[in-house]
Amino acid sequence: MDAKNIKKFTLLINTAILFMVFGLMAFFYLCKANFLIYFSIPTIFVYVFGYVLIVKRSFAFYVRLVYIWITIYMGLTTVCLGYEYGFCLYSLSMIPIIYYTNYIAYKLEQPKVTTSIFTAGIIACYLASTGYAAINGPVYKGPVGAAGVFWFSNSMIVFFFMVTYTMMLIKTTTTSEEKLKEMSYTDRLTGLNNRHYMVEKLSTPNAYKDADALSMIDIDNFKKINDVYGHNAGDYILKTLADIMRSSCDGCVLSRWGGEEFLILLTDTDDVRGRMEALRKAVEDNEFVFEGQKINVTITVGYALKENTASMDKWVQKADEKLYYGKNNGKNMVVG
Ligand code: GH3
Ligand code: MG
Ligand code: MG
Repeated sequence: MDAKNIKKFTLLINTAILFMVFGLMAFFYLCKANFLIYFSIPTIFVYVFGYVLIVKRSFAFYVRLVYIWITIYMGLTTVCLGYEYGFCLYSLSMIPIIYYTNYIAYKLEQPKVTTSIFTAGIIACYLASTGYAAINGPVYKGPVGAAGVFWFSNSMIVFFFMVTYTMMLIKTTTTSEEKLKEMSYTDRLTGLNNRHYMVEKLSTPNAYKDADALSMIDIDNFKKINDVYGHNAGDYILKTLADIMRSSCDGCVLSRWGGEEFLILLTDTDDVRGRMEALRKAVEDNEFVFEGQKINVTITVGYALKENTASMDKWVQKADEKLYYGKNNGKNMVVG
């Protein structure tokens, strides 16, 4: 959830609570529970002020104020009407909400509340109010059957909050985890998988089972290209080469292995040489033009077919040796 959605969501919750306060005020009137009617007046002010805080994005202050107020409200309604009404149940839903809002505050770089103090306060208020109500009985008597209706609807609201906030917490954390995972597996410049991804991929048994060959690719004389045309031109070539690989190597797992080296895992192919030769040619034939300057780019490819006895490291090493051979024997070639 981003800052804008949090604002919308908090406005919605604030409005829902305000409606509830008005509804309950009418009920307190019915029960002649004068104290609770009077207490509803500052409660309304608190939630009206809540709108100002939300709009000004003072979430930290809003959250503190609302927690304290709900806790007091919950305690007073329990003492006045008895715990059978189920107002005390709100303490159950408030605890996960506190942890969730703290997590959101952390994400938005807003000040966090001290969860232990709030949790302890809620538990203390719950025990004191329900304990008092159990010993002394309710101060006001509501209409017959009202306790049952309130107990049921309060329970349902509490369940709703508990489920919603727990689901939101899990969703927010899994979304961030997925984003982080994607970032940690992706090379920023080319958008290809990075070395970390490829090492993990090659360590999975399935990768090995489905694979036919590994290809190590290295741009020829790249240092010179950087020296002559500049580092930005070098970056442009790396990005364009990644695009060429993406479009000319279906069913390949592509990765930027390091600086100007790429490691490709080939699957479902009987013609590794043909595919690598096509890639080499596509690079050779491509017009690399950077800031009006035409740059000749070629690559050398070393590939190793899968051998069932070889380990992953050996397999990579073998492709690397073939590449090395190509580099020492004229470059711009495919060696297998
Ligand atoms: P060879 O044909 O033998 O491969 O020679 P080479 O010049 O390509 O190889 P060398 O290892 O001498 O140089 C690699 C160069 O790649 C050096 C480094 O500055 C450049 N390089 C590595 N990463 C990047 C990058 O992200 N962007 C740019 N522009 N250059 C990079
Ligand atoms: Mg090179
Ligand atoms: Mg190199």
